[in-house]
Order: sequence, then structure tokens, then C-alpha cells
Amino acid sequence: MEIESMVANSALIKAREGGGSKGRSWKWREMFRFSHISQCADLAETIERDYYSLCVKQPIGKKLFQLFCRSRPDLQNYISLQDALVLYTFNCGTLSGMDQLTKKIQELNLSVWCLRDLHKLLGGEPFIQYQESMFFDRFLQWKMLERSPITKQTFRQYRLLGKGGFGEVWACQMRATGMMYACKKLEKTHVKKRKGEAMALNEKEILEGLDSRFVVNLAYAYETKHALCMVLTMMSGGDLRFHIHNIGEPGLDKDRVRFYAAEICCGLIHLHQKSILYRDLKPENILLDDNGHIRISDLGLAVRLSEGKLVRGMVGTLGYMAPEVIGRKHYGMSVDWWGLGCLIYEMTAGQPPYRVKGEHPKAPEMERRIQTEQLEYSDKFSKSAKDICSSLLNTDPKQRLGCQSSGGSEVQAHRFFRKINFRMLEAGLVKPPFKPDPRLVYCSDVQDIDEFSSVKGVILDKTDINFYSKFNTGRVPITWQNEVIETGCFKELNTFGPEGSRSPDLDW
Ligand code: ADP
Ligand code: MG
Ligand code: MG
Repeated sequence: MEIESMVANSALIKAREGGGSKGRSWKWREMFRFSHISQCADLAETIERDYYSLCVKQPIGKKLFQLFCRSRPDLQNYISLQDALVLYTFNCGTLSGMDQLTKKIQELNLSVWCLRDLHKLLGGEPFIQYQESMFFDRFLQWKMLERSPITKQTFRQYRLLGKGGFGEVWACQMRATGMMYACKKLEKTHVKKRKGEAMALNEKEILEGLDSRFVVNLAYAYETKHALCMVLTMMSGGDLRFHIHNIGEPGLDKDRVRFYAAEICCGLIHLHQKSILYRDLKPENILLDDNGHIRISDLGLAVRLSEGKLVRGMVGTLGYMAPEVIGRKHYGMSVDWWGLGCLIYEMTAGQPPYRVKGEHPKAPEMERRIQTEQLEYSDKFSKSAKDICSSLLNTDPKQRLGCQSSGGSEVQAHRFFRKINFRMLEAGLVKPPFKPDPRLVYCSDVQDIDEFSSVKGVILDKTDINFYSKFNTGRVPITWQNEVIETGCFKELNTFGPEGSRSPDLDW
């Protein structure tokens, strides 16, 4: 390894270790200075007064509403009840034992109903009083911060992580909180030359509408002079292709295959619930975080399907495309379940389906194999692994696993996943079978990633600026609020002065 690479890597490793409070700029409090409450008047006028959005969905809003309720003797008990119900709902789901299942489901619905009633109640009079309280004033102050502009200076930049179609991906760190992220840069000239505007905007808009632990989150979208930037969840454990093919014998052990497949399955269900078809499942697009959980990344080819509609288009990566895509037919979510089949196959066999390692058949040959050839399963496949692969890789989308009315839950119910507790998995409580080494950087050396060539002769004009302003929306509220809470900044800054009465920035 060259010295340049070693320096870049050790800087990144050091930043990762210090991630959180150690990585904060010494000026972080200044960066987070609240506006005076009088400056929040416009915001107070325009902000949508929706209980669910303000007090349940937005993490900082939820915290402040709970603080408000706890400050009120008549409301304290509701919050305790809410906590108890959430815990109860969760515990019910994690207990196993088929005999009691029916009873559990009844209890479960009961507590879900109960929670719903509780929200109805809190969303009434208490929500009105909350909006008159200092806690809501503080919420507006956080929202003002949330809306302040993002520039290059908001982040520290570390090493180059990879290269994409329109630009590079760099490791970066939010200066104020110390949170590590990956910044995907799209060079403006490249986007324009290759007419990638719609694609870039599509990826950004789909990402900002998602909130799943199995899909990379978008935290910020901003622009610099030369690039459009998407700041994404940092995934430092490398991609699945690297883990399948570049470490030891090709392929992964059974526990890892099952665990990754289960998390991908949850990610797909989340996307499909939002009517988003992913279309690009392959090992390269599944990334590991530093604990060993995976997330689906690169939503450049994802599309939102309007109700009941199908799409067409030969889109994806040859070798992982479903027969209905190759056959130029209309298709829907079925192609993602095919993709999951390909992934389980490749993780288990150590080679992609329909071709042997190192072989690069031409497109027509690959298409023929996918549409007509019978797949072979070596003895690396257990009975249930073989069964789930052949059910997912059914060439008839109507008969494919995952494509019946129950959708993804049918896949989760397959025998292959019998050891997986999906409720625990969805809550992030299953320990990954493999944890990436924190002292390693799981990507190519900096000098081995080709430099991104610049395009000359492309002139940016008014229509481009219109598109940039659609892209440049700054912080994504939920991701940013989580960042502020997770890094401890919320707790340190959200003081209300002695006796909860006065604070220098609030005026009551
Ligand atoms: P493109 O859509 O242009 O193919 P990708 O989203 O696939 O771009 O990103 C290009 C490369 O950057 C990936 O192959 C990966 O190596 C790296 N990368 C992308 N997103 C992340 C992330 N969130 N964390 C770490 N590395 C990433
Ligand atoms: Mg990619
Ligand atoms: Mg892409």
C-alpha cells in the first residue's frame, strides 16, 4: 500500500473512532446557537400543526412533547402508559410459542388500539396546550436550526470511498455533531452532459421519503459550485460483493446468508409498502455498517409505481435481471424477489447464478440462460436454501415466492428463515453474525479508484439552476433530528435554565 493510502485510511479510522462527541468541532455550540424566539414568528405561522408529524414522527418533536407531558402532573401518567404499551407491544411480539400465538395476537391488537386511543387523546387538548408552552418554542428553535443553509463547510472531508456514474463518494463528518457520513457527489457537468437530471432528482426524492434501518438514509441534500451532494448513512463495512468474493473461500457461511437475506427482505418490504420498486439488487449494492448490519443502497434505478400499475424497461444489471425484464414485459415488485433469489444464491454458492466465476457471457447468451436454463445447486445448499432459491427464481412471476397477495411476509414465513425473529430484527435487536474489523477500511486503496474525469464545454444555465434548487433542500428532518439526539447534542443543548423557567434565548 502506498503512503498516501495509509495516511488517508488512518485519518478515516481515527475519525470513526472519535465519531460522536470527540469528533465535534470545538465551536459546535456556536454552530448550534438557537435563534431568539421572536425570530421564529414566521415559522410559527407557517408550520403545519399536525399532531402526528410534530409529536410522533419527528424525533426532536416527540422528545419535546414528552418533556411537556412530564412537566404536567395531569399528563405524566399518559406518557408512562405510552412507554409501557410500546414495551408491551414489543414483548408480545418477541415471545415465541405457537400455542399461545392466537392469544398474543389478540393482546397485541388490544395494545395497538390502546396506543391509538392514547394518541387521539394526547392529540386533542394536550396538543393545543403544548403549542402554547416553552417546549414548543424550543421545538421551533430547533426547526430554525434545521432550516439553516448547508455548505461545504458544514462537513469535514476524509478519504474517497468509491466512484459512481456521476461522481465520487467521500467519507465525511458533520462538524457540529461529529457524525460520520458518506457524501455522494454528482458532478453538475456530468449530470448535464448525460441528461441525468431526472435520475438524480428521482434518487434524492425517493431517499428522502424513506426511513428504514435496512435502506441507507439521506441526511442532507445540498449543492456546491461544481456538485450536487447527497449525504448518506456511512457504511464502513464494505459491500457484499467484497465479502462474498474477496475474503477467503468464495461464499458466506449459512448464518450470514440467512441474516443478510432476512435484513434485505425487510428492506424490500419497506420499499414495496411505499410502492417503490428497487430494480437493482446485486451484491455490490448491499453495504455493511460497522456493526455488521446491512442496508440497501444506490436507489438510482428505483421507481415509484402508481397504484396497481406496472412498469416496463430493460433496467438493472445483466445477470441479475428477472426473466420478465429481459422479455421486455410489464412488471412490478416481482423483479425484486427474483433479485433476492440471485443474492441468496450468490452468497451461498460463492458465484452468481447462471454463470461461472470469471466468465462473462454476452447479453443474448445470458438472457437465454436466465429464461430457459435449469439452475444447478451444489452441496453447499441446504434443503431449505435450495428451496427458497428455486421458489424466488421461478421464471413465472405469478408463481414466484413473494408475488402472491401476502407479498413479502410470505417470504419471511419460508422455512429458510425459521430461526429469524423478524420483530427483533426489525427493531435492530438481533446481533449480526459477523462484525467488520474497526481497524480495516473495506474499500479499494485511494489510488486504485480511477480519478473522475472532468467534462469540458458544458455550460450551466438557468434551467439547470431551477433543477438545482429542487435538489438542494438541505437537512432531511427525521435523519437530522436523529443525528442530533444520537450524538448527545440534543441533551446538552436542550436545557431550560434554572427551575425550567428562563433560558437566555427564550423570552416569556
Ligand atoms: P452510482 O449510483 O453512481 O453507482 P453508488 O451509490 O453505487 O453510485 O456509489 C458508488 C460507490 O461509492 C459504491 O460502490 C460504494 O463503494 C461507495 N458508497 C456509496 N454509498 C456509500 C455509503 N453510504 N457508505 C460507504 N460507501 C458508499
Ligand atoms: Mg452503484
Ligand atoms: Mg446508481
